[in-house]
Amino acid sequence: MDSGPMTLIRSTEHFATWRSSILDQTISFVPTMGALHSGHVALIEYAKSQSDIVVVSVFVNALQFGDSVDFDKYPRTLETDYETSIAAGASIVFAPSALDMFPTDYKKYLTPSAIADKFEGASRPGHFAGVVTVVNRLFEIVTPQKAIFGAKDYQQIAVIRAMARELHPTIEILQVDTIRDLDGLALSSRNARLSQSARLKAKTIPDALFALRSEFDSGQTNCAVLKQTAFDVLKNETNISIEYLEVVDRQTLEELSVVELHSSVVLFAGIIDGIRLIDNVEL
Ligand code: AMP
Repeated sequence: MDSGPMTLIRSTEHFATWRSSILDQTISFVPTMGALHSGHVALIEYAKSQSDIVVVSVFVNALQFGDSVDFDKYPRTLETDYETSIAAGASIVFAPSALDMFPTDYKKYLTPSAIADKFEGASRPGHFAGVVTVVNRLFEIVTPQKAIFGAKDYQQIAVIRAMARELHPTIEILQVDTIRDLDGLALSSRNARLSQSARLKAKTIPDALFALRSEFDSGQTNCAVLKQTAFDVLKNETNISIEYLEVVDRQTLEELSVVELHSSVVLFAGIIDGIRLIDNVEL
């Protein structure tokens, strides 16, 4: 880690000192849990096009994990994450400790808006409370003009937008399209935990979503018919257990029976060999 002094910041106190030295510059902020891949890099590069300075945070947030084993197994690769972030255009990598982020007397534990109740929120109780709590804390520390999130976590953006509208109305929330592997699988830090055979099978998820989308592109707008197309593709891979697959409104995430042009999205979650994967495509 030799890209100059002060570019890896490990404490909120040091961050505050640095932040007060650059008050005249605009900041775009990319929050991450590390184990950075090309999806994160796309966010950082986009952030760089948006402002003078890019701050990347690397913090594996225990509050958003329901399962402590999942938290313990989450990959931690700060050294390479730092190099990757700087190479992609970040000025600062902020990697605080858990106690610094959430001291024992921390009080601002937030409840997410109702949009968090379904899909990921229903499958992972407490997950979005952890997400809004950590993002609020990071927004207070970093005080960026803009914050960048990936469309891969579609519901997460909706939940964060709702939180930011209320608590950080001056921060602009921006979205970057999902970056995919060559076979179409959405990049995810969790993909590293897939066995070789599970990784091959996982391709069925984007195959199913793209089949649905191409049927929509050919004129089909009935959601039941479209979903059946995706189910038929997924049926070919018996090792994927589907948690949800729904066509919903992009803003409200309400389920639709007929596609609304330019305002619908298909949300998917499933488990493959014990690893939970999510994906989505906009219609
Ligand atoms: P994470 O480190 O998984 O918490 O993700 C940090 C940010 O990167 C979030 O805004 C994610 O939505 C985004 N992200 C993760 N995977 C991808 C991807 N494949 N394409 C685009 N953005 C992504």
